[in-house]
Amino acid sequence: MIQDIFPHRFNNQFLTKKNIAENDYVLHYDENCLLLKIKDDVYELPKRKDFPEISDTAENTFLFTLNDVPCFLIWEKPKVDHPDFMYKEIDFFRSISQQEIAWISIAGFHLRNWYTQNKFCGKCGTYTQQKQDERALICPDCNTIIYPKISPAVIVAIICKNRILLARGSNWSGGWYSLIAGYVDIGESLEEAVIREVKEEVGLDIKNIRYYKSQPWPLSASMMIGFVAEADENQVITIDPKEIAEAAWFTRGNLPKHSLNLSIAGEMIEKFDQGENRIFLPL
Ligand SMILES: [Zn+2]
Repeated sequence: MIQDIFPHRFNNQFLTKKNIAENDYVLHYDENCLLLKIKDDVYELPKRKDFPEISDTAENTFLFTLNDVPCFLIWEKPKVDHPDFMYKEIDFFRSISQQEIAWISIAGFHLRNWYTQNKFCGKCGTYTQQKQDERALICPDCNTIIYPKISPAVIVAIICKNRILLARGSNWSGGWYSLIAGYVDIGESLEEAVIREVKEEVGLDIKNIRYYKSQPWPLSASMMIGFVAEADENQVITIDPKEIAEAAWFTRGNLPKHSLNLSIAGEMIEKFDQGENRIFLPL
């Protein structure tokens, strides 16, 4: 999955009073694009020393480390006058083979979006400040503390004997299929969210819900929580056309174009297809 970057090492521990050094990585986002160094199709994260015009007092934000090298958000747009430096649409992460670059790019994107969306205190409207001892923002007026927003979402592989339910979203382009998924609502357990989403989107009652794995999905600030469940074969699939364009049962070896392995959905679908994982056996 996208977060599995071994042998590279990602560490999101918040380092206090960390100043940017010459060899630290810098991430600068312009809307949905990230500034990268690309030469002969090899991607690199730019370093502080690549931008000598950035002053030592320019606003920056420590994010995390990659292979023990700190990564900083640079808020001011750096001057770029070398052809190796270019802005890439964040979606590049889906096709790049350098998984550590893909992961750092979207993890930083999540934090950039969160900082940008919380410049002001939601309670009193005062400019927020970065908290010095942890990854949080604080309002200097009313002391409200704001932590990074992560939205839990459930995703479920529904199995019926030797078949898996795959669906095509109404708003997806490209005609590909995936699993049923949706955000957890307030006051709801994960299992209740699974039952509700499946009923709403494809009209099925499910049983034997069990946990699979989870996956952070920074692009949408989500935490995907994967489950497997079973459905009775006599039920009729009734789609919610607002969410689902088509849903059907598929057997191994006959799956349609579906989510890539970098997502938890893609991994579950692939494992089902290969018949390798015992979790898909009925209880
Ligand atoms: Zn406030």
